[in-house]
Amino acid sequence: MTRTGDQSYIKNLNRSIVLNLLRYQGPLSRVEIARRTGLTKATISSIVDELISEKYVSELGHVSSSGVGRRAVLLEFNPAVGSVIGVELGVDFIKVLLLDLSARVIKITESSIQETQNPEYAVGQMSEMVKSAIADAPDSPLGVIGVGIGIPGLVDAKRGVVLNAPNLRWKDVHLKSLLQYQLGLPVVLDNEANAGAMGEQLFGAGKGVSNMVYLSIGTGIGTGIILNNQLIRGEGGIAGEFGHMTIDRSGPKCSCGNHGCLETYASEKAMLDRYEQLAGTRKSLSEITRLAQSGDASATAAIQSAASYLGIGIASLVNGLNPALILIGSRVGPASHLIIDTVDETVRDRSFTEPYSPTRIQNSALGDLTCAIGAASLVLHDHFSGPAA
Ligand SMILES: [Zn+2]
Repeated sequence: MTRTGDQSYIKNLNRSIVLNLLRYQGPLSRVEIARRTGLTKATISSIVDELISEKYVSELGHVSSSGVGRRAVLLEFNPAVGSVIGVELGVDFIKVLLLDLSARVIKITESSIQETQNPEYAVGQMSEMVKSAIADAPDSPLGVIGVGIGIPGLVDAKRGVVLNAPNLRWKDVHLKSLLQYQLGLPVVLDNEANAGAMGEQLFGAGKGVSNMVYLSIGTGIGTGIILNNQLIRGEGGIAGEFGHMTIDRSGPKCSCGNHGCLETYASEKAMLDRYEQLAGTRKSLSEITRLAQSGDASATAAIQSAASYLGIGIASLVNGLNPALILIGSRVGPASHLIIDTVDETVRDRSFTEPYSPTRIQNSALGDLTCAIGAASLVLHDHFSGPAA
């Protein structure tokens, strides 16, 4: 059905255009908003008055406008008008962030969890952590506007159902309805890499980039793809499972049931296994990272071996999608340059887009907060997206 242009629809649409302009490009004067949107000064004035009275926008001060000597008042988005909560559910941890509405972190809580494989227990712990974050939220006109959650697995984002998370061993968990009932707030969920891609595009290294891919290297490998500014979900909402592309049909068995998936060669577990093979002893990822930083040959080779396989997978993504930017999120911290350098070299060797339209490959900017900030950004996206067309 085509939406007709009734008055309230147009008003809400214009309001969201002005508000989002101030969120991403403010502070701006009323005259500048009129120039950039093409809306009349009267319309801008009425929208701005409303936004100021609702505390979404505040007047910042004066700036000389060119030529005529008059001074214009600058308007800026007020991120303290409310707060939002972003959650990352990991395989062995839960991270909860309290943020303002510009996605600036107010408080981080993390706890390790041994029983994520028991959904009821994990949901209970997550709910307690979120309630405590809500209690810590500063007083504000809107209060906490919602909770976003990033999940390492297949998610039906529309229904809020975790369809299948092999590393958590969750199937068909109705997480959104469970949590909404316990918290009394809107809850949004998505795959962790989709959330990460959104977070990086809105608030991280992907600002202003229309075609980008975010890969998260953890227990598994997640991929969030944004093309023409749209997160690609596919027909059933499960697009982006490139961690399960087959690298070797007779390779080791993957958590998904197939053999030789990219994930079995390039995830954190692959790094730990490779290090054990080379050094004869098993160490944790943080120990291997530390060793690699101090020049240890086995630790360096373990990280580079995983990165080289990752590069092979990413070269296929680059050939297939031609993104401007690939962002990699990992937990190897200061040793992440080893991953970036090796991936970069492998992709340059193997992709067609070089030298015509080279893809930049770099670390995610939001680091180990990418997923949780991304999950919060999904709530912000819903809150500020304006009326549906
Ligand atoms: Zn697999």
